[in-house]
Amino acid sequence: MIKALMRIVRWTGPYKKRLILGCVCSFFMTWATAAPVMLAAWLLACVAEDARGIQELDPSWVWWSLLALIACIGLRFILTYGKNRLQESIGYEVAPEDRIKIGNVLKRVPLGYFDEVKTGDILATATTELGILELQGMKMVDAVINGYVNLAAVVAFLFILEPMAGFAALAGTVVSCLALTAVNRVSKRLTPRAHAETEQLAGDIVEYVRGLGTAKSYGHGGAAMRPILATIRRLKEARIAIEFGFTPRNLVHLVAFKLASVGVVASAVWGYANGGIELWMLLALCAFSFTVFSGVERVNDSAHMLGDLDDIMNRIDAIENAPYIDSDGRDVPLTEHGIELRGVSFSYGRESGAKVLSGVSCDIPEKTTCAIVGPSGSGKTTIANLMMRFWDVDEGSVLVGGHDVRELTCDSLLRNFSAVFQNVYLFNDTIENNIRFGRPGATHEEVVEAARRARVDEFVRELPDGYETLVGEAGSALSGGQKQRISIARALLKDAPIVILDEATASIDPENESLIQGALSELTRGKTVVVIAHRLATIEHADQILVVEGGRIVQRGTHEELLGQEGTYRRFVEIRSRAEGWRIGGA
Ligand code: ADP
Ligand code: MG
Repeated sequence: MIKALMRIVRWTGPYKKRLILGCVCSFFMTWATAAPVMLAAWLLACVAEDARGIQELDPSWVWWSLLALIACIGLRFILTYGKNRLQESIGYEVAPEDRIKIGNVLKRVPLGYFDEVKTGDILATATTELGILELQGMKMVDAVINGYVNLAAVVAFLFILEPMAGFAALAGTVVSCLALTAVNRVSKRLTPRAHAETEQLAGDIVEYVRGLGTAKSYGHGGAAMRPILATIRRLKEARIAIEFGFTPRNLVHLVAFKLASVGVVASAVWGYANGGIELWMLLALCAFSFTVFSGVERVNDSAHMLGDLDDIMNRIDAIENAPYIDSDGRDVPLTEHGIELRGVSFSYGRESGAKVLSGVSCDIPEKTTCAIVGPSGSGKTTIANLMMRFWDVDEGSVLVGGHDVRELTCDSLLRNFSAVFQNVYLFNDTIENNIRFGRPGATHEEVVEAARRARVDEFVRELPDGYETLVGEAGSALSGGQKQRISIARALLKDAPIVILDEATASIDPENESLIQGALSELTRGKTVVVIAHRLATIEHADQILVVEGGRIVQRGTHEELLGQEGTYRRFVEIRSRAEGWRIGGA
């Protein structure tokens, strides 16, 4: 518990002082609450002694007591306000920083990280779980620290007043702490399970939303819910198990403190009967015995929450300590933009993955075009991704502009690349902002110019909101080709010296294709280009063609050179020209 507590304190970073000061306020707050009880007891005792004719009650005492009561209330108000001001907002200050940190980490981890840590886990950690820490962290620290400090003070106070009462309180505390420890052991086992299920649920929901269209089209809308329902059931069971784990604790705890309260009352009466303590003390002890332990109740509730928070902090740490891909990179402005692969071998998955590329070498001089062809799954995309260092190679090296990509930071490397993929990703924002993503500082005129060159302008003008059209709403209204042209406009605006085209025209209908080809030739003019394609028109004019099969380069040369050889490329061209000829004839 102390470990979790210290972790939260460390988590608050520069706000530690505020947290501690808040705890101090809260400590005096408890005493500002206890003081009126003592005062009331004292006043009652005076009234009783006056009634029995032992000592006459001086009316001014009543007035003074009332004044003191009001002062206590005022003090409590100030302390509560101070504590809230100091403490309550700390979580709201720190959690957003953590979310940004998680966002930054995700930018820098190898893409392979997402295969191992699912999107749902990250989603749940960055939102729900961090939210719990944000809302509960400070309250827990305060409750536990003050609960214990106050308890210690009260027990010490009781010892001074009446040792028997002190013993009774101490016994209750010890029993309760033992119960707490036992239950914490249970919660250590159970809370990670509940958290894992929460993350699973987030992942299931992401998956469900993504696949809903497909699932519905096959009439499986209901079946797609099944994994979610199963996870909801398991999460419920985990949560209930945790609650059941706490029930015995609560009972032991309650009984221990009720008995301790009775013990305190009994020893006070005993002390009074033997003349050891005065009447006002007896009354104060009786009143106290039932309120003393309320702080401890809070400690109790906080204990299981702390276990929860500890687990959440483990999860945040795990994400924040994810392997950085460019931790040793330097920011180097590249002056040359050729690409070279030297004996590259690569497999996905850290240990067991099968080799996807073996001994791949190639040299793509600056401002030349290199086409990569080969059957599906042969490793073409992988080669392109390694150039952008989405992953690190297992053997060999990738050089861009003469620098091993591992020597560069991702930012300084990727600044030089524009990539257009088969699957276009458009952000849920306006068309203009989607294009501007290529160069965030671009003016409206520059965006429109890029759009014009990418043949986007012509269809955007037809839309009622033009460039202000939200892609999210219009998403379904945009054709695949239009989306692709927006992504090309984005790349044009970035105007990077190296262009990667990965099957950029693969899923485009024929009418759109000529438009896209026009846009692409704008994009690739005067650039170093790596193009993965199966359309002959795209390939035949490349300066060099690499034929990849099973993760190896099996042929290389120009279109004419390769046509002159017996081999994969010639078969490929024969099949393609038949397919494209048939398509043109059939269209
Ligand atoms: P291509 O682009 O030529 O179709 P890829 O480079 O996409 O081929 O894939 C090469 C091989 O690597 C395939 O066997 C594919 O299943 C595998 N592969 C691709 N991406 C991943 C990934 N993220 N994790 C694991 N295996 C992958
Ligand atoms: Mg591919």
